[in-house]
Amino acid sequence: MDSPKTLQQAIVYFSDADRAFQYALNLRWPNGIVTCPRCGGDKHSFIKTRKIWYCNPCKKQFTLKVGTIFEDSPIGLDKWMTAFWMLTNCKNGVSSYEMARSIGVTQKTAWFMLQRIREVMKSDKGTKIGGSPKNQVEIDETYIGGRSKNMHSKRRIAYQNGDKKAVVMGMRTRNTREVRAMVVPNAKRETLQNKILEHVGWGAHIYTDQWVGYEGVDATNLFVHKTVNHMQEYVRGQVHTNGIENFWSLLKRTLKGTYVAVEPFHLDRYLAEQVFRFNNCGQKMNDAKRFEKAMSNVAGFRLTYAELTGTGSATSH
Ligand SMILES: [Zn+2]
Repeated sequence: MDSPKTLQQAIVYFSDADRAFQYALNLRWPNGIVTCPRCGGDKHSFIKTRKIWYCNPCKKQFTLKVGTIFEDSPIGLDKWMTAFWMLTNCKNGVSSYEMARSIGVTQKTAWFMLQRIREVMKSDKGTKIGGSPKNQVEIDETYIGGRSKNMHSKRRIAYQNGDKKAVVMGMRTRNTREVRAMVVPNAKRETLQNKILEHVGWGAHIYTDQWVGYEGVDATNLFVHKTVNHMQEYVRGQVHTNGIENFWSLLKRTLKGTYVAVEPFHLDRYLAEQVFRFNNCGQKMNDAKRFEKAMSNVAGFRLTYAELTGTGSATSH
């Protein structure tokens, strides 16, 4: 049976436990060498009937799930992989209700699975964008939630009225069109400019509006900074922030449509999902490639229920 190319094929393909296992095995250990998650060694024996390995030096067993986001989940790999497939395709997102119906789990379990998958979708791993000289990077922030509907005085309202909005900072490099977006505690100069140092390669040309938080970002000569005054104009030649603002409007549409209420605590994971989709929906990508890209991030992630909800109460799913 060929590798799946559509959601329907994925459901059929992964419903076979052996096939799902083999697929996950190849993703986790692409060079074919199974290593013990405890000692890193490859001296072990495989117990085929139970799909577990016994590590000789450790004298302990391990499964494919140990050391991955699947570790403490009794949900089968068939359901996990179908869930990954659903979330990484280019639709506008999947609600926990929709996923619960599709893979046959409760809504609460589906919600939990979705949060884990989103965590895996965080992709920036310490690299920078816009690195080579004269690459153009648009930077802006937006405000999610709260009561205010006045977009034009977004900052003033958030700050002067103490409106409880989450501040999201975004960057988009024009050469690869890659977007980064993250929740930040506020829009103060120190906060925004530390993020720029962390994420933007030296020599980049940074385009922002005239918010004071970006002022002086070129003081160290690491960047060239050009601004557009949104009170007068939106585009000045190359200098504009239309690319990142397109991402904001897509994000807000999705948050309104699919995700009725997003608690600020979970916002960074929803952002990761949207950024993943935005960055991986070009013509060269397809559902199968996106799925493999997301799945290849699986090993090494481990997120408990308590960490997900911030409640400290560990519940098994
Ligand atoms: Zn071992």
